[in-house]
Amino acid sequence: MILRKGQSGASDVLNTITLDGARAQTWDVIIAGSSFAAMFFLRGLPDGLRVLVVEKGPMRTHDQDLAVGTDRDLEDFEQSGSAAEAKTWVAHTKFGGNSNCLWGQAPRFHPSDFRLSEVHADSAPWPITYDDIEPFYTEVEAIMEVAGGGNEGILPRSAPFPFPAHIPTRTDAACIAARPDIWVPVPSARSNGGNRATCCANGVCHRCPIDAKFTISNSVHAFERPGVWLLTGVELRQVDIANRRAVGALLRDQNGAEVRLRADTVALGANAIFNAAIMLRSGMADPALGRYLHEQTSRLIHLDVDHPNYFGGSSITGHCYGFYDGEHRATSGAVLVENYNAPSALRTERDRWTHRMALKLIAEDIPDAENRVTLDADGAPAITWNGHSAYGISGLDRAEEQMQSILPFTIEGIVHREDSRTEAHIQGTHRMGADPATSVVNRTLRCHSVSGLFALGAGAFPTSSASNPTLTLSALSLMAGRSL
Ligand SMILES: Cc1cc2nc3c(=O)[nH]c(=O)nc-3n(C[C@H](O)[C@H](O)[C@H](O)COP(=O)(O)OP(=O)(O)OC[C@H]3O[C@@H](n4cnc5c(N)ncnc54)[C@H](O)[C@@H]3O)c2cc1C
Repeated sequence: MILRKGQSGASDVLNTITLDGARAQTWDVIIAGSSFAAMFFLRGLPDGLRVLVVEKGPMRTHDQDLAVGTDRDLEDFEQSGSAAEAKTWVAHTKFGGNSNCLWGQAPRFHPSDFRLSEVHADSAPWPITYDDIEPFYTEVEAIMEVAGGGNEGILPRSAPFPFPAHIPTRTDAACIAARPDIWVPVPSARSNGGNRATCCANGVCHRCPIDAKFTISNSVHAFERPGVWLLTGVELRQVDIANRRAVGALLRDQNGAEVRLRADTVALGANAIFNAAIMLRSGMADPALGRYLHEQTSRLIHLDVDHPNYFGGSSITGHCYGFYDGEHRATSGAVLVENYNAPSALRTERDRWTHRMALKLIAEDIPDAENRVTLDADGAPAITWNGHSAYGISGLDRAEEQMQSILPFTIEGIVHREDSRTEAHIQGTHRMGADPATSVVNRTLRCHSVSGLFALGAGAFPTSSASNPTLTLSALSLMAGRSL
């Protein structure tokens, strides 16, 4: 069944089941979560399996979210550590998770992101290369109906983008004309053709009024298959493990009722904070489990420039790779620059209203073992956050100092500068690698210490690329499902 444009309603597409109903059935696979990691894993599974998708939060339609907002579904986290006050983590607990509020930036990682350990001594190695993941990127982009084109010289691809890039802003167009080697159109899951309404550049991407960006809810038909059942309002509390093998899971509903279900395979797609909590509650003690929680560090800058701006086809239309890869990565993080089509940054001088740019500098960070998730006395996740690395912050400073070098027009002044509290990307805690002493999952996201258990999502990232994580975590999850 294909949903009508602008409609979201997973229960019209997926079979739903109650906790009692689930108890009466047998299952091959139990998956925790219903966002990118869980659903792309589901998409990759072979046919003929009986699969239970367990989602802790409720099912909400797009119309309900528009009417009432999404803040009621936000998690609170207990947080300590020397930089706890400066950091926020964003997790929406409901069907589709953070897919409901993501902005839809959909870049691939840069090939060099998978090789950072070759130039930075303290970086953990990735057990896969860009070439390994490339076919899965292509498949995920097709399902998300990604709009893009023009960045093939930087991020090689085996197939064209499914849909063309959005119209560039006037500064993007000038930058791409002058420096096509570093300035490219943004790959975006905000629609520019396909099954969803086309992006109208309203800028309200966290809750798109016209449902133009890819969400799990508005594209759930892409994950529909026989033998799959969805259970909402029920938490996967822990994985049952016997003889180092996953044999099922303990589920708990909102009234505290608990049920144990058996399954040959359990896959955790609950995000890096909750995945770690589930595994810790299950008694797993891998040395790296819960550690290396990380995300990018970022800075928003408004520049006055002697060139007109805006009138692009979407909220963010330009990417600059001028500060990304190079010798600096031994000591200073890669930086990806986003150019916002942001009328909120207008100037006030007559005839110069649009002579301003809103740029976000996003720097890769070096994960730190002491930034971590543990359990509090009630078994809930507790976060220790001691701040971003000097490596990431030096990337931001380097990019800001050299800003004029990437622009073909003159900077007249920096009028606003603000370090962000969050990129809303939750990464690390069960990183992938070949060595069980330093990593938790292998290259197909299977846990080293427990067979039959997958830990999906950005929790598996050994390093923090400057690029947004969701396309990559979705491709990894698809790869993991295919491996079963
Ligand atoms: C405002 C905002 C903007 C963003 N913009 C972008 C962007 O432009 N580009 C990009 O790449 N990324 C973006 N992100 C990040 C992106 O949303 C995440 O990378 C992505 O959603 C992660 O997918 P996931 O499946 O791993 O986890 P989540 O989306 O966090 O979903 C986890 C799911 O698991 C469920 N769950 C949790 N615990 C349990 C449990 N114990 N049992 C069962 N279910 C459980 C949750 O309810 C949820 O449905 C943005 C995030 C935010 C908040």
